[in-house]
Amino acid sequence: ARELRLVLGDQLNAEHSWFRTRDPEVVYLIAELHQEAGYVRHHVQKVCAFFAAMECFAHALAQAGHRVIYLTLDDTVHYQDLPSLIRAKTEELSVREFRYQQPDEYRLARQLDTLSLCGVTIHCVDSEHFYIPHSELKRYARAGERKQMEAFYRRMRTEHQLLMEGDKPLGGRWNYDQENRQSLSAKALQSVPAPKLFSNPVAPILSRLARHGIDTMGVAQEDLVWPVTRAQARELLAFFCQYLLPDFGRYQDAMTHQSAHGWSLYHSRLSFALNAKMLSPRRVIEAAIAAWRANPDGIDLAQIEGFVRQILGWREFVRVIYWANMPDYRALNALGATRPLPSWFWTGNTHMLCMKEAIGQSLTHAYAHHIQRLMIIGNFSLLVGLDPAPLDDWYLGVYVDAIEWVELPNTRGMSQFADGGIVGSKPYAAGGAYVNRMSDYCRTCRYKVKEKTGEDACPLNSLYWHFLERHKQTLGNNRRLALTYANWRKQSAEAQQAILHRAETLLADLEKL
Ligand code: FAD
Repeated sequence: ARELRLVLGDQLNAEHSWFRTRDPEVVYLIAELHQEAGYVRHHVQKVCAFFAAMECFAHALAQAGHRVIYLTLDDTVHYQDLPSLIRAKTEELSVREFRYQQPDEYRLARQLDTLSLCGVTIHCVDSEHFYIPHSELKRYARAGERKQMEAFYRRMRTEHQLLMEGDKPLGGRWNYDQENRQSLSAKALQSVPAPKLFSNPVAPILSRLARHGIDTMGVAQEDLVWPVTRAQARELLAFFCQYLLPDFGRYQDAMTHQSAHGWSLYHSRLSFALNAKMLSPRRVIEAAIAAWRANPDGIDLAQIEGFVRQILGWREFVRVIYWANMPDYRALNALGATRPLPSWFWTGNTHMLCMKEAIGQSLTHAYAHHIQRLMIIGNFSLLVGLDPAPLDDWYLGVYVDAIEWVELPNTRGMSQFADGGIVGSKPYAAGGAYVNRMSDYCRTCRYKVKEKTGEDACPLNSLYWHFLERHKQTLGNNRRLALTYANWRKQSAEAQQAILHRAETLLADLEKL
């Protein structure tokens, strides 16, 4: 062969220009790697989903007439890492050229950037997935610069002419967040649709993981519910457009444990298919806009805008932040948080019902929706000051869609404020009242959401004030928190002491929560 081309596990993009022509002199390499299965402790469904999707992709390429080598963990066990595998394969095939697509993760990009191969020329090409090509990322942010997602999003809407009338947003407004913050009424609970689940057999992958002693977390499924082919990803997209998009924005922030479908609600669950690049963000946005145009009575503008905002806005935004700030971003810890994670992060075994539900479903489904990640697990971690490094590892491991470029700015930045405000202008901190407003968790929780002190008081209520008091040097001048601090100062010294004392007791033993 003349050329070897590497396809990483999150580069399953059948629409890439590579695949437009068939060339018998070109060989594609897709490999299950020990370094990828082990760089963090992953949820078992996540590893299964990636490996199954990679295998299906290799199969589809071969069917389309391309030359493909697929290697399982059994085949790659003797290679120390990705570079040694590439070296061996380029020699074995006597190729003169090696090509790879720009990785989205810093770790892999470094590994491939620094690769040298004797007598073989190396080329890196764009992954042709995102709205913003890799080479243009620097136009959008500089290292350390504080960025607002809203401004970025408006720029993207304008540049790509999505939901626009010339330079004006369609409908006259950019933002429908106000309408999009409803909780689920008892009546609305009745009509939550069942999620679309697949049944992909992964028993052989599970035995490979066991055979190679890959340490994973979470509940394994022999029939994996996540999409692993482009056809399945498109089916999930079509399902979303028909059944979930009409209420997507409205219930985006809602949480419930009183519906069997509470784990998925109106969320698309497309993140794995998107991040593995089985679906392109363009295709997803175009399909959603087409569904909205075809059904203007059933889907209002707030729903489609809310969805486009997530993909054109947030998803592209966090990638800009990641690449502008790596590798330093990984080590930021602006609030000096150092507490270890309580062991119940791996079992869900806590009396706080919100945390039990959010962690429990993460372990069961390798999935939690945005508000559970941000305002339940993230908020708790922020308030008690969990060390962002092991917390990142937990988030990076547990979710089926977790890849560092998207996980890190969300966890360390948006949810933990460890970047000191690059991603968000204030910490996403909340007491029990927020959880009570957006969910039905508090009604049956052992703790009382209306109480701040005493043994039964919702821990979040005192931890919230303890957090603000603890960080008043750093956060006290934040204009967006001025009112909150003013409210705290209005309380009597005794009331403040009682709250802080309750928080101290809780902080002394997080295991007991
Ligand atoms: P939907 O609610 O249906 O949203 C549609 C799509 O919008 C998602 O598929 C996703 O591609 C995109 N999106 C929405 N919000 C974000 C966001 N904040 N950042 C990037 N993309 C977004 N997302 C990941 O893909 N991988 C992660 O590892 C990840 N870790 C997160 C960690 C924390 C602490 C937080 C707060 C958020 C994290 N997110 C992550 C973002 C978001 O929570 C998930 O993308 C979303 O929950 C995936 O479910 P869904 O496909 O049903 O999303």
